[in-house]
Amino acid sequence: MSTVHIVGGGLAGLAAALALTARGRRVSLYEAGPACGGRARSYDDKQLGCRIDNGNHLLLSANDTVFRYLDAIGARDTLVGPGKPVFPFHDLADDTHWSLRLSRGRIPWWVLNRRSRVPGMTLGEMSGLVRMLKAGPDATVSQCLRPGALADRLMVPLSVSVLNTRPEAGSAALMGRVMRESMAKGGDACVPWFPAEGLSESLVDPAVALLRRRGAEIRTGCRVAALEPAQGRVGALMLPEGRRNLEPGDSVVLALPAQSVRDVAAIVLPELIVPDAFESILNLHYRADVLDRITGDLRLARFAGVIGGVTEWVFVKPGILSVTVSAANHLAERASAELAETIWREVRAVVLPYLRRNDQALLPETTPPHRLVREKRATFAATPAQEKLRPESRTRLSNLVLAGDWTATGLPATIEGAMRSGLAAAGVLCAARTGSVAFQS
Ligand SMILES: Cc1cc2nc3c(=O)[nH]c(=O)nc-3n(C[C@H](O)[C@H](O)[C@H](O)COP(=O)(O)OP(=O)(O)OC[C@H]3O[C@@H](n4cnc5c(N)ncnc54)[C@H](O)[C@@H]3O)c2cc1C
Repeated sequence: MSTVHIVGGGLAGLAAALALTARGRRVSLYEAGPACGGRARSYDDKQLGCRIDNGNHLLLSANDTVFRYLDAIGARDTLVGPGKPVFPFHDLADDTHWSLRLSRGRIPWWVLNRRSRVPGMTLGEMSGLVRMLKAGPDATVSQCLRPGALADRLMVPLSVSVLNTRPEAGSAALMGRVMRESMAKGGDACVPWFPAEGLSESLVDPAVALLRRRGAEIRTGCRVAALEPAQGRVGALMLPEGRRNLEPGDSVVLALPAQSVRDVAAIVLPELIVPDAFESILNLHYRADVLDRITGDLRLARFAGVIGGVTEWVFVKPGILSVTVSAANHLAERASAELAETIWREVRAVVLPYLRRNDQALLPETTPPHRLVREKRATFAATPAQEKLRPESRTRLSNLVLAGDWTATGLPATIEGAMRSGLAAAGVLCAARTGSVAFQS
C-alpha cells in the first residue's frame, strides 16, 4: 500500500492525517518538536509548577470543522464555556463592565436591548458591520467601521483577536467572512468554548492516540530538512537519519508553518510564494487560584474581554489567570517584568469586581509568579496584501500538497482554518469532492 507522508504535526497535519486514515490510507507523520500540536500545545512549566497552554485559544460554535474533528477523536466534552452567547467585557478607561448577550437566532434583537448590547452604541453603527460583510479584497477593517462605541468596545477588539492584526491594516474581507459564518447566523453560532484542561488534552493527544490505533506512524523530534525531486515528483524526504525514498504511489502533505515551508520545499518548488509578514501574540500566565471563587458572568463564561489597557482577554483556569494580547508586535521592545506588572494591575481591576470581599486577598497587589510567552510569529498578518500570497493546496507536483492556516482557506489563521486546510489537502490526494472528506470513515 502507498503511504502519505505528512510533514508537520500541528492541527493542519493532524486533521489531514485523520481524514486520510479514515479513508484507509497509510500515513507517516513527521513532527520536528518533542510533541505534536504546533502553535496550539500544552506543556509542563517548571517555573510555575503546572501545565499551561502556549496561548489561550477560543473557539466558537460556528467552527464546524473543529467540532467534527473533536467528535471523531471523542473530545467534544473536554471543552468548557458558558453554553450561551455571553461575552463579559471590562473597560479599564472608565472601570465599567457589562456583558454582550447575543440573541440566539438570526435576527439581532440584542441590539435593541440595553442590557444585552454594547453600552453607548447607536443603531447607526450597525451599517459598519454591513459594510464589512460586503467588503472587497483591498478594504481594511477601519475603513468599514463607523466610529463609535460599537467599534471601540466590540468590533475593534474582536477583529484584533480574530485577525491578529490591527484594524488599520486588517483585511475587512477576511473579517467579513468570519462574521458571515458566526455573527450573521445569530448567537447560536457564537457560543464560545475553550479547553477545560489544555490544548493538547483536547485537540492533540486524543488525535494522536486515534491515529496510532488506525496504524499511523507518528514520529516526533523528527525534522524534515528538505524534499528531493525525482521525475517531476517528490522522490525523497531528507530526515535526520538520512534520505527516505518514496515508493511510486507515495505522496507528501507539507503542513508546515509559512516561515519554514519555503526552505523545506526550496528544491522541489522554488517558485512557491507564501505569506511573509507575521504578527506576534503575547500570553501571560499568572499563578492565581480563583476559579471556584468568582461570581456572576465571569463565573459563567470563565473569560472576559478587556478594553482600554494592554490586556485584551483574561481567562480563568484552574490555578491560573491567563491573559492574551494579540497583534503584539508593538510590544516587542517592552521589558517582560514591566509588562507583567502592568498587566497584573489590569487583571486585578477586571477580576476583583467578581470576587466577594473575603476572597479579594486571593489577588494580591504584588505580581504573583508568572510566565510570559511571546509567540513571535503567531500568525501571518491578515492584511489585504498578505491575503494575496496564500497558495491553494494543490501544487504543480502531482504527489505534493500544502496545508496550514496560511494556505488559501478564506479564513484568517485559526484552528478552523488549519483544520479545513488539512481536509482540503486530503481531498486533493483522494481526488474527493470538497465536503465529502471526513475525519471518520
Ligand atoms: C498564542 C496563539 C493564540 C491563538 N489563538 C487562537 C484562537 O483563540 N483561536 C483560533 O482558532 N486560533 C488561534 N490561534 C491560531 C492557531 O493556533 C493556528 O492557526 C493553528 O494552530 C495552526 O496550525 P497549523 O497546523 O497550520 O500550523 P502549526 O501549528 O505551526 O504546525 C506546524 C507544525 O510543523 C512543525 N514543523 C516545522 N518545521 C518542521 C520540519 N522541518 N519538519 C517537521 N515538522 C516541522 C512545527 O513544529 C509544528 O508542529 C492562535 C495561535 C497562537 C500562536
